[in-house]
Amino acid sequence: MKEPEKKPTKKQFGFSIWYILIGAFALLSIHAYLFGPVATENISYSEFKMLIKEGKVETCHITSSLIRGTLREEDVSQKKRTFVTARVEDPELVKELEAKGIKYSGEYESPWVQTFLLTWIFPIAIFFLIWRFVLKKVGPTGGIMSIGKSKGRLYAQEDLKFTFNDVAGIDEAKEELQEVVEFLKTPHKFTSLGGRIPKGVLLVGAPGTGKTLLAKAVAGEAGVPFFNISGSEFVEMFVGVGAARVRDLFSQADQKAPCIIFIDELDALGKTRGINPIGGHDEREQTLNQLLVEMDGFESNKGVIIMSATNRPEILDPALLRAGRFDRQIVVDRPDLNGREAILLIHVKGVKLDKNVDLKSIAAMTPGFVGADLANIVNEAALLAARFDKKTVCMSEFEEAIERIMAGLEKKKRLINKQEKEIVAHHECGHALVASSLPTTDKVKKISIIPRGIAALGYTLQLPTEDRYMMTKAELIDRISVLLGGRAAEELIFNEVSTGAQNDLEKATDIARRMVKFYGMSKLGLVTFEHNGKPTFLGLDMGLKREYSEETAREIDLEVKSIIDETLTKTKEILRKKKNILIKLAKRLMEKEVIEAEELKKFLSSEDEKETDESKNIK
Ligand code: ADP
Ligand code: MG
Ligand code: ZN
Repeated sequence: MKEPEKKPTKKQFGFSIWYILIGAFALLSIHAYLFGPVATENISYSEFKMLIKEGKVETCHITSSLIRGTLREEDVSQKKRTFVTARVEDPELVKELEAKGIKYSGEYESPWVQTFLLTWIFPIAIFFLIWRFVLKKVGPTGGIMSIGKSKGRLYAQEDLKFTFNDVAGIDEAKEELQEVVEFLKTPHKFTSLGGRIPKGVLLVGAPGTGKTLLAKAVAGEAGVPFFNISGSEFVEMFVGVGAARVRDLFSQADQKAPCIIFIDELDALGKTRGINPIGGHDEREQTLNQLLVEMDGFESNKGVIIMSATNRPEILDPALLRAGRFDRQIVVDRPDLNGREAILLIHVKGVKLDKNVDLKSIAAMTPGFVGADLANIVNEAALLAARFDKKTVCMSEFEEAIERIMAGLEKKKRLINKQEKEIVAHHECGHALVASSLPTTDKVKKISIIPRGIAALGYTLQLPTEDRYMMTKAELIDRISVLLGGRAAEELIFNEVSTGAQNDLEKATDIARRMVKFYGMSKLGLVTFEHNGKPTFLGLDMGLKREYSEETAREIDLEVKSIIDETLTKTKEILRKKKNILIKLAKRLMEKEVIEAEELKKFLSSEDEKETDESKNIK
């Protein structure tokens, strides 16, 4: 048998005005039922008793909280006929009513309808309305609901057109990155031999030296997708969002392997943890932790390489630099003379140059300029030429462009004038000479007067590593001596000191203080004066408690001072003996801007020979 066909329900009940009207009507009837006729007068209980005594009341209806009543018709004057009054505990009332022959009735009135409406339906209705409102405003696909996802901006850039040919003047960095490119191209070649591929590569260098460009060039050379995100983009207002974004980034990268994740401005995210004086886990810290977790969990052999750039490596959390994370650090230097020429050559490609333009001399005019500055010069010169309606860009435009940009840079204290250059040259040579005369110090790799933000000896980049403080007392003293060498040389040659040595002095003092306070290397004996709990390489001693008296503090200060003073005297003595060499070396440095280790070694040994020859002659 066939089932009777169901009638299709045609009407879809939409949200219409009728619901509101029906609801309102229902509410009104409930209200009317609860509170009775509208034409009711509120009277006081004493008035009510008066009315009873006067015999004006006809009927009474007593509920648990109210008494409603009607007056005799003949007694209604200006007052309304029905009244209501609050019920007062009054045992005599019934007797009085009976005495006057008033009809009365009682009722046990449960207020559940009222209570239910007020405490349940009403709030639920309000919540429902708010919810609908919020949903409509932000929608399930936009606004608040999508915070955890990476911003739409996060995408893999494919077919990057940059290659290593677009990068010049930073050949050492390029060479080191060549290996990364090789790996991304042919991962099997490396993994089949059981080698461990670097997971993280950190590019360190001043702003504008081409770090971002270099990372893109690596992706372009290898022909892999490139995820570009800036450290500051991870730091969000809402706690947990940054961490979610990191997870999202890594899962996206996982699907695109082999690829490169590039985190620009890592310092915004990777500042040393635990120096937040207010305490607690802040958002940045959570995000950083998530990044560390993701990096550890990543199989590097899958072919995802995490690159990152910073111009402030010294503030990075040491955990980021540990093995298996950003364990490969590549210094992106300011370009030297030849490097600047090469960079200029890249950027003038699309520019019509006059025959008189000599890139070599432009490069010579721009010590301390980084790649971005040089690109800027070329652009500025082209604009100037266009303004003067010239057919080609001449040397004069370049000169003006250099002047303009230099003025801007001088404001930022990134360039040095002639006299400063002389002082800096002697200062750096002072460091180098002291370092090469002392037995325990590290070899000088490079002296440079190309101004840079980070390093002291021109080149030695001081990244925090765990074993840096495993040193003997003699080594520490020698290290202080090298640091003081710059200042001592300035004093020796110019009979004057400059502010340029501040960073050196800070570091020297720090070492001396550590010797006294932590390592028991002073007259105060084998006592440590503070707990050395955290990596305190930045003097971040905030969490440390002082456990000694004012007097001891004074003694410590004196001890530190005497270490510094003694070492300074020794250092000056070393330099005084080698004053001639110092002057010659500084002169050469001013000409060349950079002196490499090999050259320095040759120079020093030939000078030593001359010295010994001279002393022989005197004999
Ligand atoms: P950073 O990331 O180190 O601050 P960028 O990579 O953003 O510097 O460099 C900005 C621009 O400067 C680049 O797009 C490029 O045009 C130019 N530039 C910087 N360094 C170089 C370089 N070594 N070779 C060629 N161009 C460079
Ligand atoms: Mg950059
Ligand atoms: Zn110095």
